[in-house]
Amino acid sequence: MELYPASRLELVRNSVRAVGLDAVLLTPGPDLRYVTGYDAKQLERLTCLVLPAQGDPALFVPRLELPAAQASPAGSLGLEIVPWEETADPFAMVAGLLGNVSAVGLSDRMWALFVLRFRDVLPSARLALASGALRPLRIRKTPAEVAALREAGEAIDRVHAQVPGWLRAGRTEREVGADITEAILASGHATVDFVIVASGPNAASPHHEVSDRVLEPGDAVVVDIGGAMPSGYCSDSTRTYAIGEPPADFTAYYKVLYDAQEAACAAVRPGVTAESVDAAAREPITAAGYGGAFFHRTGHGIGLESHEDPYIVAGNVEMLEPGMAFSVEPGIYPGPHGARIEDIVVCTADGYERLNNTPRELLVVG
Ligand code: ZN
Ligand code: ZN
Ligand code: ZN
Repeated sequence: MELYPASRLELVRNSVRAVGLDAVLLTPGPDLRYVTGYDAKQLERLTCLVLPAQGDPALFVPRLELPAAQASPAGSLGLEIVPWEETADPFAMVAGLLGNVSAVGLSDRMWALFVLRFRDVLPSARLALASGALRPLRIRKTPAEVAALREAGEAIDRVHAQVPGWLRAGRTEREVGADITEAILASGHATVDFVIVASGPNAASPHHEVSDRVLEPGDAVVVDIGGAMPSGYCSDSTRTYAIGEPPADFTAYYKVLYDAQEAACAAVRPGVTAESVDAAAREPITAAGYGGAFFHRTGHGIGLESHEDPYIVAGNVEMLEPGMAFSVEPGIYPGPHGARIEDIVVCTADGYERLNNTPRELLVVG
């Protein structure tokens, strides 16, 4: 049960062929990591996995990155690693390996700096997104990937378990955010991707981060936090807390939100559409009169990226399959306060598994 199995190169190659591409070119980012396990640095010097539909793949790396590439999981895949010297033209080297190609996929997050150079050295090739080939694989997590997401979920849950101790009237969002940042790393994450501590009126802004606002009695506080584990897999979980007694209207819609989040999770199983999970969250909120205050999609996929396919949104008729992992995070933001509850959920053979399991009931602190 390896997280980055050597067999993946062949799976991706088959997919490249199936979508009618001659090759994919993967520069540092989640696609390269998915295929090789190599967490390569984003640099102005080109690192690029060339994975042709026919023929052997090769990983081009700047000469000075060679030891790092060899020491990475990519070093044990039986993959040719081609170092290029400072004065060489790695784009011409890649084009030389590819020969005459008519359609090439570029990793979705490739810098324009590289895209335009590849366009110049491959003038006869149609350039497409490599996600055409990678998306069908990345969207269904293997048991090892689910285990990595579960580990990330447990780590962020340990952080949420400590949050009540840090939320006190008189402290600022920023001070609480600093405690959380430290704890995300202490919990085993390699990076902190985001820390949202949205108190009082700021809780009505879903992507507020932190500010110097001082927490006050009666505040609702939305805490949405996540990072990436050393495995590369991400966490993302939201809980809403109250400092002392919250306003009565807040308490009323929090109950609606809680039930909506439960209903949306319960709707997850193979064969239902992504949009039906969104509808399961939205219907009770709309029925209670808060439809206009829930103005974002219900969720996003998660894996090596904290936002990836599948998106849980109206209009997405893609059917859920075992191994798909995504957030279920309805929110209600009528102002001058707001609330959100977010868990990462995996579609299983007959239902769902939540990867976040701290209490979802409104937690009154202080
Ligand atoms: Zn978000
Ligand atoms: Zn989140
Ligand atoms: Zn999220």
